[in-house]
Amino acid sequence: MSCENNSITETQKVSGSVPSVVPDQDHATVEFAAANDRDHKYLTQAVEEAYIGVECGDGRPFGAVIVHKNEILVSCHNMVLKYKDPTAHAEIIAIREACKKLNEIKLSECELYASCEPCPMCFGAIHLSRLKRLVYGAKAEAAVAIGFNSIIADGVRGIGCYHKSNLEIKKLDVSIAEQVFQNTKGKFSI
Ligand SMILES: [Zn+2]
Repeated sequence: MSCENNSITETQKVSGSVPSVVPDQDHATVEFAAANDRDHKYLTQAVEEAYIGVECGDGRPFGAVIVHKNEILVSCHNMVLKYKDPTAHAEIIAIREACKKLNEIKLSECELYASCEPCPMCFGAIHLSRLKRLVYGAKAEAAVAIGFNSIIADGVRGIGCYHKSNLEIKKLDVSIAEQVFQNTKGKFSI
């Protein structure tokens, strides 16, 4: 992605009107560009986890990273096949590991980066764990296209949890997140 080095004056002028999903490059701020770089970095890590999980036979192509105070706290992938556990989604594994590491049941100082839009179970867990922010890459449709259950799309876009949560949700437009599914297709069982 490109980073515009706009002046601080311009930054102040447009603050408050910065779009939450895709930056308009004409109005991109220094802060916004930096935040977007940061989001891309952590989301790329989540996508790498998705590949690792498939390569080592642990699970399906989904990865999740939890960031705490600007540092990666845990980096996990889907473990459904290894654990023989249909609930061992990357986000669930990451939330459990993060809670253990912090010795907390609330992750209110943490952000979760998911390679794909979280399913309803994971979105519920994200809500219950009080994560402050969710950034995801691929839309559910990219997973559904290779055979995953279309219920995935009901997580973030389902109405109940979404409206009850104070979570900031951001969809990053990164093609690498969508490509995971086509690139790993046939290398795991659904
Ligand atoms: Zn899930």
